[in-house]
Amino acid sequence: MSEVDGSIDPHKVVFCDFDGTLTNFVIIDHLYETFAECGLQYAERWERGEISTMEEMESTFATVTASREEMERELAKVDLVPGVSEFISMCQKRGYSFAIVSDGLQWYIEYILRQHGITGLRIIASQIHFEPGAFRFSYPWYDPEIPLRSTSKPTIIRRYQERGSKVAFVGDGTSDFEVVGVADLIYARRKLAEYCLSKGVPAIEFTDFFDLLTKWQAF
Ligand SMILES: [Mg+2]
Repeated sequence: MSEVDGSIDPHKVVFCDFDGTLTNFVIIDHLYETFAECGLQYAERWERGEISTMEEMESTFATVTASREEMERELAKVDLVPGVSEFISMCQKRGYSFAIVSDGLQWYIEYILRQHGITGLRIIASQIHFEPGAFRFSYPWYDPEIPLRSTSKPTIIRRYQERGSKVAFVGDGTSDFEVVGVADLIYARRKLAEYCLSKGVPAIEFTDFFDLLTKWQAF
């Protein structure tokens, strides 16, 4: 990748979704299935667009009695999609600003990445606070413009674009739909790939991150 060295540009930003993108399944749904009395009941309503991420997380975690440590023992088993470390290294080598942008929780993202030796990444996501007998949440990236999401991905992307940055987005699912038509370049797997196709918005489809590396385009 020798052409890489000449292409360092701090105004290029890569935002990457977490659940279902860097991992093979949706981690928060796995926690719900494993630890919540109500299972996926609220997650399914969220998927249908009936409730917000905030309502989904708060209602579901209200039925969880497991401790943080018990949940982290489950998180410790989670694998990353092949090629994630290599992809992040490529971004750093090219001088892209890289961040994970998630409608999920910073807690489990950081925990899982650390299990795989990945630390120090910028993570834009919602917060869970473990308090005695209760879980509390805060949403630093909420924007009423996108009321169903706890982290407004298009708002964050536009903020960078207004400062002159170009933004490539990598994602997989429903919480990424609002970036379609906003991000300058989209790499998509699964549901997001189908969604882009249905909207006639160009997206580069990928399977895992080794595949994505072969399809990566200068932007
Ligand atoms: Mg996802």
